[in-house]
Amino acid sequence: MNITRMNRQAAQAADPLPLPGRLGREFVTMQRMVHIWCRDKHGGDVHHHGLCVDCSDFLAYAQRRLEKCPYGEDKPTCAKCPIHCYKRAQRELARDIMRYAGPRMTLRHPWLALMHLVDKVRKVEHPMALRRRSVERVD
Ligand code: SF4
Ligand SMILES: [Zn+2]
Repeated sequence: MNITRMNRQAAQAADPLPLPGRLGREFVTMQRMVHIWCRDKHGGDVHHHGLCVDCSDFLAYAQRRLEKCPYGEDKPTCAKCPIHCYKRAQRELARDIMRYAGPRMTLRHPWLALMHLVDKVRKVEHPMALRRRSVERVD
């Protein structure tokens, strides 16, 4: 089975998503991690798809960032991103969530955890090179 098809299956296993391919899989990874975090730290909440209001807001914020990510499907992991488009508070929360839920993902969602490791070794494009490329595309 190829990676594109596995990404699609991972995305389809979650709620319907507007994000394509790898971005969809990244969102599902974040969604799973936020669920682990919220359930263990806040007890979750059935009224917000199993999340408390704060975690639900954070997940919506992370989704908006992914939708607008200038790297698109070639993005690095957000933790390694030289741009890092998150605001400070959300960035710190994302780091705490990943530190807590990352190791727990290995047992519960091994495919997503493995792909996250693969994404971590992706080459990160410098923001100026990225900018040049997008200007060339418009010209
Ligand atoms: S932090 Fe970087 S990789 Fe993550 S969504 Fe923002 S721009 Fe894209
Ligand atoms: Zn929560």
